[in-house]
Parts: sequence; structure tokens; C-alpha cells
Amino acid sequence: MLDKDDLRRIHEEREVHEKWWKISRHVVADLLEACSVCGTVREREHLTRCPWCEDVYLCPKGCAHTHNSQLHPRASFWA
Ligand SMILES: [Zn+2]
Ligand SMILES: [Zn+2]
Repeated sequence: MLDKDDLRRIHEEREVHEKWWKISRHVVADLLEACSVCGTVREREHLTRCPWCEDVYLCPKGCAHTHNSQLHPRASFWA
């Protein structure tokens, strides 16, 4: 039989757990981005950000080139 203290402790532990779960989910969402060309989800640090488009992330090699040749054919940034 659980007494009041046990119930309170269980309740507090669950609140802490839920808080952490929300925080970690937020952090993960914050670190991941999808390539705008192929849709692959990667860690943001492994993607190249298009300097001309806002919030466009690209795989550093193939997709950055594809995006550039389609949307910014005159730019020489990637050369
Ligand atoms: Zn890609
Ligand atoms: Zn762009």
C-alpha cells in the first residue's frame, strides 16, 4: 500500500520525466534539418545552408549543386 509521500514522489518523478522528454525532443528537432532537394534528414552541422535562400539546408555535395544549378544558376559560390 502506497502512502501519501510515495504517491507524491511518483508524481514528481513523472513530472520531471515529462519535462525532460519535452526538452530532449525539442533539442533533437533543433539539431536536425531536412535537405530541401532530397529530403534526407541529417544533423544540421552536416548540411550546407544556402546563402541565398532562407532556411534552406542541403547535402554538401550533390544536392547543394543541384539546388544551385536550378535556383541560382548565375552564382559561383559553390565552384
Ligand atoms: Zn540532399
Ligand atoms: Zn538557394
